[in-house]
Amino acid sequence: MITIAVSKGRIYEEALPLLAKMGIQPIDDPEKSRKLILPTTRDDVQLVIIRATDVPTFVEYGAADLGIAGKDVLIEHGAENLYEPIDLNIARCKLMTAAHKDAPPISGRVRVATKYVTIAQSYFASLGIQAEIIKLYGSMELAPLVGLADCIVDLVDTGNTLRANNLEPRELIMNISSRLVVNKASMKMKNAVIADLLAQFEQILLTSAQS
Ligand code: AMP
Repeated sequence: MITIAVSKGRIYEEALPLLAKMGIQPIDDPEKSRKLILPTTRDDVQLVIIRATDVPTFVEYGAADLGIAGKDVLIEHGAENLYEPIDLNIARCKLMTAAHKDAPPISGRVRVATKYVTIAQSYFASLGIQAEIIKLYGSMELAPLVGLADCIVDLVDTGNTLRANNLEPRELIMNISSRLVVNKASMKMKNAVIADLLAQFEQILLTSAQS
């Protein structure tokens, strides 16, 4: 059996069509089902749909053989213990700093609200800016509005969430997309089937890039 861990939400929605092209479709609708393990149309493949930040942990410990997670989560978690063979090019967005539209440019000492503590720390350190990082688990956009932080570090796609809260994107930290990750032991122990799945992913990505 091959277990694939997929992040809930946007990544799952964009991964589904890719998986479907490989003949892997969940039998139950995860929106309606309360099952945590979803059997698929392929007898030897099951999905677990979990929080984005838990995907690297499941794959690292071998609870899932494969995982689909954003580069943001992989960098923040530290993915040294995983193979990251394929950029799936889905759920693309940008990791950026953002601040109130009337706020002055970031300089000197700043307070930064984010769930990406490690990335934010190294980003501001690389600029020589002294940053106090405040860890939040959601609704980062609120922080500058209520005086909790001068700026935030968060994912930006259309920019609508920022605009709706009188914030604006400032500096690009990195471009983000979702990656396929593989447990190192599974890669050895289940090599034939995993190599076959990786080849199928690559073929599908190649075909969709050409069309
Ligand atoms: P947007 O309003 O389109 O700029 O989207 C921003 C909101 O969606 C923020 O709350 C982000 O954390 C979240 N978001 C944007 N892109 C992604 C992505 N690829 N994966 C997960 N969350 C995302």
